Amino acid sequence: MVDLPTRSSSDIREEQLKDADLKKIIETFEQSSKDENFLDWTSRGYLMPQGVLHRNAPETDSEEAQLVVPKQEWDDILKAHHGALTAGHYDEEGTYQRISKRYYWSGMRSFISDYVKKCPKCSRYKAENQKPAGLLRIPAYSQRFETLTIDLLGPLPETSDWKKWIFIIEDTATKGIELFALKDATAQECAITWLEEVILRYGLPRRLISDN
Ligand SMILES: [Zn+2]
Repeated sequence: MVDLPTRSSSDIREEQLKDADLKKIIETFEQSSKDENFLDWTSRGYLMPQGVLHRNAPETDSEEAQLVVPKQEWDDILKAHHGALTAGHYDEEGTYQRISKRYYWSGMRSFISDYVKKCPKCSRYKAENQKPAGLLRIPAYSQRFETLTIDLLGPLPETSDWKKWIFIIEDTATKGIELFALKDATAQECAITWLEEVILRYGLPRRLISDN
């Protein structure tokens, strides 16, 4: 679902037609008499290679046209380019830059800003970093790798190797975060990741905090 370019043109086109705004543009392109609306959309960079709506992006150096994303898939694009394993919770501008390399929709900048502002993981890390030292924070974490928190995020759209959970390990002293993709959110799979990725590499932390 998320990786639009791996789908066939006709699948993507079908999704685009479900979005009433995009449907209007596609129909304008495909009617036999080209009217001023057609010229208007064309002048805004829209084009239709292989029956799929794209847009030339004058503001980026990318030579490839952006794929125009229908409303019902905006969230998926954001998940894949902000919260997913390889996405790394970039800030508003960074997330926008990554998405606009390949995708476009009208109003995408403010949609992306809102999404990043509301991302629970981002706001949590931000809030923790902004707390005045010594206030509200129960123990004063100082030493690296003294205390780790673990968390699970998901289920997310499945990756090509069937992983849909993210196991997050955070060092509360350095705010360093490591993310691991998991197939299932079982205690066993978390434990194996924990053992192989943390204990074997760094040794045992003094304290471990988990939401559940
Ligand atoms: Zn985030």
